[in-house]
Amino acid sequence: MINLWERLQPRMNLAFHSRLKPLPQIVEITISVVIELSRAWPAPTKDVSTAKGYRMSLQQVFDDLLAAYGPQHWWPGDTPFEVMVGAVLTQNTAWGNVEKAIANLQKNDALSAEAIVACEHDRLAAWLKPSGYFNIKATRLQNFCRWYLAQGGFEALSQRPTDELRHGLLSVNGVGPETADDMLLYAFERPVFVIDAYTRRLFSRLGLLDGKLGYETLRGHFETALPVDVALFNEYHALIVRHAKQACRKRPLCEACPLAVDCMAAG
Ligand code: SF4
Repeated sequence: MINLWERLQPRMNLAFHSRLKPLPQIVEITISVVIELSRAWPAPTKDVSTAKGYRMSLQQVFDDLLAAYGPQHWWPGDTPFEVMVGAVLTQNTAWGNVEKAIANLQKNDALSAEAIVACEHDRLAAWLKPSGYFNIKATRLQNFCRWYLAQGGFEALSQRPTDELRHGLLSVNGVGPETADDMLLYAFERPVFVIDAYTRRLFSRLGLLDGKLGYETLRGHFETALPVDVALFNEYHALIVRHAKQACRKRPLCEACPLAVDCMAAG
């Protein structure tokens, strides 16, 4: 503020003695004062933290994506256990590769927690090969299945409150927040919002969120700004993935984007 006053004072003095100045000079002085003031108090940016505006913005994005792409019918998988296996295998790979790995498990009658735990590690890794990082994923999948069986399987886990279940999933070596929330939302049908790299990229570009914020902070933003609704969270995450693959890619295809009108990064 002191710097601003130092910059403005000479011009204010000139304006004060303006009776002595010709009209164009008075106008020039006035404009320069206005410019300095506008620099000191820049135009307010959209406050996305206010509950009302924030909720409307996120809801609007969902509505626009749903109108553009329609329901996505997620998660692809015949049983909750298959969904959970897919959540472990989809880390760092395309879904088509996961489907091939799951097909290998099915072909070898190994799509159950008991069969995966009993399987020799290298054999399991060979079946998972299409999904990439197959040695690590074989270890992670066996870790998860051991924990799953020790907890009593799906029926027993389904009885647990969401926070407790999430805490348990996160205790498994190889299950991070995104994988745990995939399982919670799509296998256990709990209202948790999944944050992934696509979510960070899209909402940063839209100017609605800082994509560098921590996982829990971002999850909290979505879960408090939207109605707590499993079906909404399910569809929303699926639509984000669809949109990120189809339009909001690393090099975005903004011309055909249904969100372009409201996007800060639209090219
Ligand atoms: S306008 Fe471009 S950057 Fe913005 S959401 Fe659409 S594709 Fe992404």
